Amino acid sequence: AKKDGGNNYKFHDEALEKQNNARLYIENHLHKALEKNEFSLHYQPKIELSTQKIIGVEALIRWENPTLGMVPPDKFIPIAEETGLIIPIGEWVIKKACEQLKLWKAEGILSELTIAVNISIRQFFNPNLVSLIEETINETGIDPFLLDIEITESMTMNVEMATEILKDLKKLGVKISIDDFGTGYSSFNYLKHFPIDYIKIDKSFIKDITIDDQSKNIVNVFFQLAKAIGFRIVAEGVETKEQLDMLKTLNCNEVQGYLFSKPLPEDEFNLFFERFYKP
Ligand code: C2E
Ligand code: CA
Ligand code: CA
Ligand code: CA
Repeated sequence: AKKDGGNNYKFHDEALEKQNNARLYIENHLHKALEKNEFSLHYQPKIELSTQKIIGVEALIRWENPTLGMVPPDKFIPIAEETGLIIPIGEWVIKKACEQLKLWKAEGILSELTIAVNISIRQFFNPNLVSLIEETINETGIDPFLLDIEITESMTMNVEMATEILKDLKKLGVKISIDDFGTGYSSFNYLKHFPIDYIKIDKSFIKDITIDDQSKNIVNVFFQLAKAIGFRIVAEGVETKEQLDMLKTLNCNEVQGYLFSKPLPEDEFNLFFERFYKP
């Protein structure tokens, strides 16, 4: 293998090949990422269809490492999950998101915005989660109903434990969303037990609603279910006008996707927000 003097990335890329262990490689860097301040949050707007306004954002973590470059969350979150690093990283995400909300409120214009935070399974079952969220709400002074906790269906499989945790979270006044709805093990049974405010239909369904009838029919059933049980629906991964029009006819409440905006860093989001209101 030839070494390319100044090209750091190439050198490491070869080393990686040699080790044949990308996971360990990422893990080594991940261990120091927090203390080195390599994480940030990006914000993707959530638009309410009835008003066409931004009513909230989803916070999505970004990791930029000097050697690895931008590492997508799909690559490092599973490793963080396995190693337990997700606990301190997840804590950072919650604190950062609440501080951002406080900042937006202080700046005056974005005072009613909700912020959604993704919680991974290990984090969800960590006994400190509820008190961490409670402390963070108290420390930042944010309105708890503006904080939205996104969990996935896989976390609801242990019904008893999940119910306990969700009830404790609801006592704090936060909102609960089921993310990636329809992709996991879905026993619709849990929906009637859990205090759920939103379900987020996975983007794999949205991708196909204008192309194939099957996907459209499935999504349609989700909407009926939502109506019957009484929660709101967010459609994620909306990329085209056609998809949006279809979702409107289905009476979708809120949408998220590249059609409106990709997830943006704070300053770009602030600009986008202003433009969106002042055309
Ligand atoms: P997710 O929670 O389902 O987030 C939605 C993903 O879809 C995001 O990818 C977002 O950038 C992307 N997306 C948004 N709009 C569109 C669209 O119109 N089309 C397409 N094709 N994609 C769209 P991202 O940011 O790479 O995050 C991937 C996953 O990583 C997330 O999926 C979530 O499961 C996880 N993740 C991200 N941030 C966090 C975090 O802070 N904590 C935890 N535990 N997981 C996170
Ligand atoms: Ca999510
Ligand atoms: Ca999702
Ligand atoms: Ca996902």
